[in-house]
Amino acid sequence: MKDLRGEWKDHQLTVALRIRPLNDAEIEEGATTVAHKIDSQMVVLMDPCEDADNVLRANRSREKTYMFDVAFDYTATQEDVYVATTKNLIDGVIAGYNATVFAYGPTGAGKTYTMLGLDSEPGIYIRTLNDLFRAIEDSTEDLNCSVYMSYIEIYNEMIRDLLNPSSGYLELREDAKGEIRIAGITEFSTCNAKEVTVKQKSRVKDINEEVRVGKLFMVDLAGTERASQTQNRGKRMKEGAHINRSLLALANCINALSEKGGKGAQFVNYRDSKLTRLLKDALGGNSRTVMITHISPASSNFEESRNTLVYADKAK
Ligand code: ADP
Ligand code: MG
Repeated sequence: MKDLRGEWKDHQLTVALRIRPLNDAEIEEGATTVAHKIDSQMVVLMDPCEDADNVLRANRSREKTYMFDVAFDYTATQEDVYVATTKNLIDGVIAGYNATVFAYGPTGAGKTYTMLGLDSEPGIYIRTLNDLFRAIEDSTEDLNCSVYMSYIEIYNEMIRDLLNPSSGYLELREDAKGEIRIAGITEFSTCNAKEVTVKQKSRVKDINEEVRVGKLFMVDLAGTERASQTQNRGKRMKEGAHINRSLLALANCINALSEKGGKGAQFVNYRDSKLTRLLKDALGGNSRTVMITHISPASSNFEESRNTLVYADKAK
C-alpha cells in the first residue's frame, strides 16, 4: 500500500469553481456572459450594471478576479472535473482516510449535474464508485479495508439521503465510540461489493488486525441563495439563519483548517452546526476536503454569482 500520509496532509483543502454553460432560458432573456475563466485558476466576474464612466471616476475596476485551485468553464467535461477534483482521493480513501466532496452554489448553478450528472454524462458520484471498484479489484493485496460512501443533501440544518430520498429527514446520532453518524443513511460499501463480485480470496482474518475504514462523503449544499433572498421576510428568516449558520460554520472551519499549515494550532470549532459536527471526521485530522463551487455565467445571475464567489474566496 502506498504511503500517503505526507501527500494527503499537504492537500487538505481544494477549492474549485465550475461555471456552467449559458442555458436556453438565459439566452432567450438576452443575458450576456459575465463570468469568464481567465486561466486554469483564475476567473473574472464583470458587473453588468456598473456604468463605465462611474468606474473610471472612482478609479475602480468593473472586473473582479477570484482565484481557485482549479477553475472550469463551459468547455469542461464531466471527466475533466472528476479528474481534477476527486479522482486523486481514491487511493487515500482505500488506505483508510476520510474525504468529503461538497457541491456548493445557488439552485440551478449545476451542483447536481456535477455530482450526479445525466445518464449520458455521469457525474462525480458514479465515476468515483467505478474507480473505487476498479482500484479494489486491481489490487494485488488482500485489502483489509472498508470504504463507505454516502451522498447527502444538507439544507436548513436538515439532512436528506440522496441515495434514498424517500427516507425523509435523517437525524445525527453519536455512537458508542463518540463518532457522529447519520441514523439510517445509505452507505455504499465497496468491500462488500468486492465480496459479492470477487468471492473474497481469504476470508480468515486475524481478529486483532486493524481494519482500515475510509469514509467518503458527497454533499450537496442545497440552495445557498435562499439565505440572502429570504432575509427580512419574517416567517422564512429562521430558514435563512439556519443556512447561514451551516455555511458560516463551514467557512470558519475551512478557514481555520487552511491556515493550520502555517501558524499551527488554530482552533477549529465543529460544534457550531450540524453540518460541521457531521463533517468533523471528514474535515479535520488526516482528511481531505474538496469544495466545488458552482455559478451561472449569466448577467441576470450576477448578484448571486458574486455572493457565491465571495463566500468561496473566504473559505479559501
Ligand atoms: P443545481 O443542482 O445546482 O440546482 P442542476 O445541476 O440541476 O443545478 O443544473 C440546472 C440545469 O442546468 C440542469 O438542467 C442541468 O442539466 C444543467 N447543467 C448544469 N450544469 C451543466 C453543465 N456543466 N453542462 C451542461 N448542462 C448543465
Ligand atoms: Mg440540485
